[in-house]
Amino acid sequence: MSTASPSKSRPKEWTCARCEMTSRWTEGLGAEAPPNWVRENGLFYCLVCRRERAIDAAIERAGDVTTADRAKLRSSAVVDFELDRNPDRTEGEIAKAARASISAVRKARKDRPARPPVRR
Ligand SMILES: [Zn+2]
Repeated sequence: MSTASPSKSRPKEWTCARCEMTSRWTEGLGAEAPPNWVRENGLFYCLVCRRERAIDAAIERAGDVTTADRAKLRSSAVVDFELDRNPDRTEGEIAKAARASISAVRKARKDRPARPPVRR
């Protein structure tokens, strides 16, 4: 009689712990978080906040820095973040995602410590 299908195919909702944006995905996505989100200590973070947190961490690591250095840190942190997130993209794609120049991406990639090759 009832047409309601309890809990089945009901959209799942995630809330970012930092900006409180919610993301809804129908169940069956098969992931524990929406694409590009991460789960840390039981909290979820959207892509924008993941990037901001990477910047905050870089600034924190640097300690007492000038405003100019802070701006530099911000952009290099975003480039690093994008390189980490998906190192297989071209430098142009990463530059676009990080809103940085291609030469900045190239330099950051070169400066990165050698890492074991990604298993495919
Ligand atoms: Zn967020």
